[in-house]
Amino acid sequence: MATPRKPPSAVSRRAFLAAAAGAPLALPGAGRALGRVPVGRGQGGTEASPPGAAGGVLRPPSTLDPWLEVDPAALRRNAAEVSRLAGGRPVLAVVKNDAYGLGLRTVGPVLDRVPEIAGLAVVKTAEAIALREAGVRKPVLLMGRTEGMEAEELARRDVLFAPYADDDGARLTRVAARLDREVGIHLYLDTGMGRLGMPFRRALRWMEGLASRDGLEIAGTFTALTEEDDFDPVQLERFRSLAAEARGRGLDLGRLHAASSHALFHRDLRDAGFDMVRPGLVLYGAYPAGARGMDRAVLRPALRLRARVVRVARLEPGDGVSYGRRYVAERPTWIATLPVGHADGYPRTAVEGCEVVIGGRAYPVIGAVSASHTIVELGAERTVEPGATATLVGPDHDAVHPNEVAERAGVSVYDVLMHLSARLPRVVSPDR
Ligand SMILES: *Cc1c(COP(=O)(O)O)cnc(C)c1O
Repeated sequence: MATPRKPPSAVSRRAFLAAAAGAPLALPGAGRALGRVPVGRGQGGTEASPPGAAGGVLRPPSTLDPWLEVDPAALRRNAAEVSRLAGGRPVLAVVKNDAYGLGLRTVGPVLDRVPEIAGLAVVKTAEAIALREAGVRKPVLLMGRTEGMEAEELARRDVLFAPYADDDGARLTRVAARLDREVGIHLYLDTGMGRLGMPFRRALRWMEGLASRDGLEIAGTFTALTEEDDFDPVQLERFRSLAAEARGRGLDLGRLHAASSHALFHRDLRDAGFDMVRPGLVLYGAYPAGARGMDRAVLRPALRLRARVVRVARLEPGDGVSYGRRYVAERPTWIATLPVGHADGYPRTAVEGCEVVIGGRAYPVIGAVSASHTIVELGAERTVEPGATATLVGPDHDAVHPNEVAERAGVSVYDVLMHLSARLPRVVSPDR
């Protein structure tokens, strides 16, 4: 059962040094100077310096706090793979909600430099601005609502709007006039999602109205699919026929787009691909739920949730672990405590069957995931020492793949990524 291993002291020392080399040094959110993010593959490995270095906000190298590693090489590879899957169509990369938890300031500039990526899309105004402040130069689409001074600020920064309301044309025309510049838009059509977008039944005249306005340039037209297998084709047909009718009347709709990650795996892109695809999840290396033919694309998780062991202890029969004593040892066993918990974004339900990888081996989570701590069972042997680096989510072992964590914890894979705490320090992995 116990695998042969190096003496514990040697293991822990190596783990300690390795962790120290990649130790997080920065406060979360303090993005590094984006101009310095590596441009292409094959750049030197010195890009592992911590985010925030350029922000001037350094904290002492407290290497025992959990952190999140972002892997730029994986992001680039996934983008290329997604583009291939999309038949070479341009990719509008969705980086909403802090780039699905990975960190907008790290991810934005990396994706900005990927040739297959035509632009970036967010839902919140602050994120559109953050992308520009991070140095992103490609088109940025705001797929959410904005008003007043914010709209002007966004237009000044060349952010594209996604109008869907009756008065959006007039509003955005005023913005264009005040700034004396053209405002770019992607028409947002509701073909059955019932969330945002101009309802398709009365969209045609609205589209004509927008097209006739001075100061507005239609760069794209899009819709969001419900990802319900029987209904997506209905939506796609509504979208297609509306676009055909508008184009028949001479409207320039720019690029049409509808496909998110789900459509890339579940739909025939001859029907759903249009002129551009608009995925988020797959870029970060996770598969949409129920993805058919995962072998259609090889994605690599671009993140690692990591922490270091802060305590190793031996339980005697009858000893319990964590709140509620939901785990009680039946025989002598070793446990290790990690200072990372559900407040950091690791699912509470990880205790239902998730494992954590330490030194290449997977260990089950036991007891309870509390706000700031997770406990794993090592077994009969003391295989781990304090200081060892653990991976709770990441590409290095099947047990911690985001899709596997989601499956075992009984949560959506979107939650595994997007619930990662914004307070976790983000570290850029060494670039390859
Ligand atoms: C989030 C979002 C996407 C991307 O969805 P994924 O499932 O992550 O690929 C695309 N379009 C809209 C409108 C979205 O809100």
